[in-house]
Amino acid sequence: MRIVGLTGGIGSGKSTVSTLFKAHGIPVVDADVVARDVLKRGTGGWKKIVAAFGEDILRQPDGEIDRPKLGRIVFSDPEKRQLLNRLLAPYISSGIFWQVLKLWMKGCKIIVLDVPLLFEAKMDKWTKPIVVVWVDPETQLQRLMARDGMTEEDTNRINAQMSLDLKRTKADIVLDNTGSLEDLNENFQKVLVQVTKPLTWTEFALS
Ligand code: ATP
Repeated sequence: MRIVGLTGGIGSGKSTVSTLFKAHGIPVVDADVVARDVLKRGTGGWKKIVAAFGEDILRQPDGEIDRPKLGRIVFSDPEKRQLLNRLLAPYISSGIFWQVLKLWMKGCKIIVLDVPLLFEAKMDKWTKPIVVVWVDPETQLQRLMARDGMTEEDTNRINAQMSLDLKRTKADIVLDNTGSLEDLNENFQKVLVQVTKPLTWTEFALS
């Protein structure tokens, strides 16, 4: 099974591209969904986070983790962010692993792994090719402003991530999303051909 990596910066257009892959029948494992699942009340991840950050982090009355509150805490304190990453990483990796396994058992030949922190979490070694959705910083800012008013959390998230230009240098394929949605769709069709073409023996041996 081929596992295509999909990543980019905040608001660069990963979800939009992920929707395009799904529309073409390619299943997508979304790390953000997995990350939300591992925080659900009563799970191993939930217990670890409550033990580390205290019950103040729980939303009342349902006892779920207050994610915006946790986000504010960790994005204003790099040590707490590292702690959270360290605690959650094993749960997220195994959650992703199970999703991939399920798709493999269904007989899927190509799947996409949509992971915003693909490089930071060192999951890039699981995926080939790696598609980085790229946008210039000005357009990125404009789109984030239009989407959610560019919250303080957005700024902190951008600053906490590896720069999009560095991610671009690590990509096998750069998907340019600076233009319109029509342009993106056009660029996407070329990427689709690249990621679905059969591997040559040389590529297979070296992958
Ligand atoms: P996040 O990192 O926050 O999850 P993302 O990388 O998944 O973001 P999207 O949500 O796909 O990014 O896109 C960010 C915003 O920009 C959305 O409001 C989306 O509709 C818009 N957008 C994406 N691509 C384009 C485009 N080519 N033209 C105009 N708007 C776009």
